[in-house]
Amino acid sequence: MGPAYRLFYKNPVNLVRGKGVWLYGSDGRQYLDCYNNVASVGHCHPKVVAALTRQASTLNTHTRYLDENVVRYAERLGATFPGNLEVCMFTCTGSEANELAFRIARAVSGNDGAIVLEHAYHGTSKTMFEFSTEEYPAGEQPAYLATTVAPNGYRGPYRYGDPQLGSAYGAMLGDAIDVLAERGHEPALFISDNIFSTNGILTPPAEYLQEAYRCIRAAGGLAVADEVQSGLGRLGDHTWAFEDSGVIPDIVTIGKPLGDGHPLAAVVTTAEIAASFAERYDYFNTFGGNPVSAAVGLAVLDVIEEENILQNVHDTGAYLREGLLDLQTRYACIGDIRGKGLFYGIELVRDPETREPAAEDAVKIRDFLRENGVLLSVTGPLANVIKVRPPMVFSRAHAEQLLETLEKALRWIS
Ligand code: PMP
Repeated sequence: MGPAYRLFYKNPVNLVRGKGVWLYGSDGRQYLDCYNNVASVGHCHPKVVAALTRQASTLNTHTRYLDENVVRYAERLGATFPGNLEVCMFTCTGSEANELAFRIARAVSGNDGAIVLEHAYHGTSKTMFEFSTEEYPAGEQPAYLATTVAPNGYRGPYRYGDPQLGSAYGAMLGDAIDVLAERGHEPALFISDNIFSTNGILTPPAEYLQEAYRCIRAAGGLAVADEVQSGLGRLGDHTWAFEDSGVIPDIVTIGKPLGDGHPLAAVVTTAEIAASFAERYDYFNTFGGNPVSAAVGLAVLDVIEEENILQNVHDTGAYLREGLLDLQTRYACIGDIRGKGLFYGIELVRDPETREPAAEDAVKIRDFLRENGVLLSVTGPLANVIKVRPPMVFSRAHAEQLLETLEKALRWIS
């Protein structure tokens, strides 16, 4: 394996089995998974595994043939979206979905530029690497790409308490559009994940996406929501994170949680946009939309309904949030708690007044938790935000275990 792979932890974990929110190591230990959103309805959910094995032992082909599973999945998935978002095009990964969204946006808008957030992550292909502004120095950005500031109310130019916070950050898209114009480009799209994960798990303030989407559409570009991390009920009130902001994007990209561990991703858009793209281009993806993936995707949607997962995310999420806010009142090193549902960022600082980031402490806490049977990670531009994003079958008892172990770590570090 290439040396560019990076393992988590100074003392890496060798996992041999998973069930629900639990992961089991070759060391015989059991770990509470507070990190893996891909295992959306729990590791190795029996209903998903049964659907996968049933279809894998019946037929697996591709979208050049008629297949009831893939059509049923497109209909079921499309029906989870508001407005006219209803047409699905399948891929295997979020990167491919974002690539396809950019191709569609370029074809439909006639423009070739892109606006992304500073410190964004959108995938692994060449173009998605370029969209992933957290991955390389700003000076190396290509001419067709401009960045806009992520709405960080804790550290950014506009802060919590400012009633215009969201619209002020949204209006900054205008600067990015001007930068592109100076370089002879017009934007085909603005893309953001709607809980700004790599930016330190920021949630969009009220009016942010409204204003950003207004700006991009006025410049002739499309509004694209990257729901690869934030989607499928993760935030607890709606299936898709953009719904919290009361906006409807032109294109949505989805992936990670759709297949509960199986590679399954999609672009979802309006019939009009999909038709406009199809007038000029064919689309075929060898593995995207295969019958086994579709059977898995359908089983995941069934489990979400049958097990009332959205309600669980809402209720457990509210309980976890209360617990985290309570820890913040007792531990001065917690500068900010952000997030919603089952997706939180705990920003650590050396001093609450100066807000000096405490990146080393974040890593120490992450490693302490690993040694104490709880898996989570660290993120953010300053590498000082603890990231909590468990499978969505996380219960109150699991939240309690996380909070207790986190408190032990905070006591140990203080
Ligand atoms: N967008 C976002 C917001 C992501 O978090 C990721 C994966 N971390 C991707 C896109 C890329 O998805 P994939 O790894 O499936 O290509």
